Amino acid sequence: MLANVTLDIAPLLGPALGGDAATIEREASRRELDATALTQLLDLALQPFLWEAAAQLGTLTDMDRWDRGYCPVCAAWPALAELVGPEKKRVLRCVRCGTAWSWLILLCPYCGNDDHRSLRSLQEEGGAQRIDVCERCHGYVKAVQSYAATSAVRVVAEDVATLDLDVAAAGAGYKRPGDVSVEGAGIPRLVREGRALRPPG
Ligand SMILES: [Zn+2]
Ligand SMILES: [Zn+2]
Repeated sequence: MLANVTLDIAPLLGPALGGDAATIEREASRRELDATALTQLLDLALQPFLWEAAAQLGTLTDMDRWDRGYCPVCAAWPALAELVGPEKKRVLRCVRCGTAWSWLILLCPYCGNDDHRSLRSLQEEGGAQRIDVCERCHGYVKAVQSYAATSAVRVVAEDVATLDLDVAAAGAGYKRPGDVSVEGAGIPRLVREGRALRPPG
């Protein structure tokens, strides 16, 4: 039976946007609701606003200049990377708001590791998909080939359609995100050292 609960979610949208899990769990238990279900409900309620915000921000600023591994709009970790065009430019995608930002191939978005000896790909022979893994933080990012960066809605579908890659990555001992310290999360080594991630231009 479906419970019929009238829920004023407006005061919870701020904590949901900021990823404040403790506040949402407290409110869920106060209202005798399942915390996971409440979190998903809040994320769904936020999604149209995040899509709109991301679309507007995308026209104001060049997202490709963003030099952190988390989303410049909503601070979520990327759900996957698209390998765009014949040159397979790696573009990280946020499934929460749809934002796209380009990223180096040999760079872990979670711990900022750029040592090629500890970065590799798990890939089926001749497959159009792969899983990029980092041996330092044990994080992984799914990667799918794409002709052009796809819409926010397509990214949600793509994330669901590649759940087998999440299962394979978890089975091999990798997680999303990897193990990262709060201070260093998402900051590439070069940026931590005060240097530019990419040459200008
Ligand atoms: Zn986002
Ligand atoms: Zn890493």
